[in-house]
Amino acid sequence: MTNTSRETRCVQAAGAVESETGAIVPPVHIATTFERDPDNSYPRGFTYGRPHNATVQTCEDVITGLESGAATLAFGSGMAAAISLFLALPRPAHVVAPNVMYWALRNWLKTDAASHGLSVTFVDATDLAMIREAIRPGQTKLIWIETPSNPLWSLADIAGCATIARSAGANLAVDSTAATPVLSQPLTLGADVVMHSATKYLNGHSDVLAGTLTFASADSELYAAATRIRSTHGAILGPFEAALLLRGLRTLFVRVERQCLSARAIAEHFASHDQISHALYPGLATHPQYELAQRQMVGGSGGMLSLRFAGGQAAAIAVASTLKVWVRATSLGGVESLVEHRASVEGPGTPCPDDLLRLSVGLEAVDDLIKDLDQALAVAHGN
Ligand code: PLP
Repeated sequence: MTNTSRETRCVQAAGAVESETGAIVPPVHIATTFERDPDNSYPRGFTYGRPHNATVQTCEDVITGLESGAATLAFGSGMAAAISLFLALPRPAHVVAPNVMYWALRNWLKTDAASHGLSVTFVDATDLAMIREAIRPGQTKLIWIETPSNPLWSLADIAGCATIARSAGANLAVDSTAATPVLSQPLTLGADVVMHSATKYLNGHSDVLAGTLTFASADSELYAAATRIRSTHGAILGPFEAALLLRGLRTLFVRVERQCLSARAIAEHFASHDQISHALYPGLATHPQYELAQRQMVGGSGGMLSLRFAGGQAAAIAVASTLKVWVRATSLGGVESLVEHRASVEGPGTPCPDDLLRLSVGLEAVDDLIKDLDQALAVAHGN
């Protein structure tokens, strides 16, 4: 399997044919405990379900291959994965994080991180100079970036951040949920850790909560600490979820390729619409970081975009409420297209403008998605 492409290995779940029966779908291992040999040893390596599980390990191996990493830890959610990484830092620690990022994690960094010995400087992560200036020599242990960032889809320069982190003796972690391993490989660009809310594209069917951390090195203290924290906190992904995630992963490449094509078509269609003030999509030549997107996201610009409405918040909400094909729901990366007025979700203090709708493009016929938005805009305009 090693000479095949990432896509082939992903489709075949890294060659996980079960040796005993020849089953081409890996079994779901639900045992929480394992028998010792008479000599009191665990010769097969498994001891208890909180530190490890064989189905979860199969899933982790597929993701390690996708990210060209050394080891992956799967968690019960993206938030559990991300927070475990922050808690794995030797503390007290200073962290640099972006102003625009997944809001619940930003809220945790703002409200809870200090009580865990973490101080955080928020910066405009599109600006390498600001990241460099935010570094506190000897204290900064982690630069956290999210690219493209939710919900404005601005980019952080992964290779540039990796250089800054290295010279500061810090780690770089990348939330690559929106980029997916299909389009970006942060570890090959110098990041130390890549995180996914696997709830989104990796699973892709809106029926599993999961998160992953993939490490460039399995020898690092950070990996050892994150492994310890997952085990002691009981934050490991469940075996049934791991089996569903493995199934979702098999179609990751075809899903993301189609979602990129449809998102681009939607962005291009609405970029010049007179009721739309901004179409935020890294694949549009008008995107402020178009060049970086072309370099850092290979094969597509993602399935996420946001539209800002000239008529302000009222127009955005009117359009969302008139859509018939798009589903009004939170989350992203699934096969069904979702729409959300993010400012309502994120509340006061959000950097998300109130005239913005976030669109997660699914696998429906793109003409249906465009027609639905067109009719909703027409209705909103008539109101
Ligand atoms: N990171 C990003 C970019 C997300 O969009 C989300 C969830 O929306 C998360 C992290 C958190 O993931 P989860 O909901 O799986 O905990």
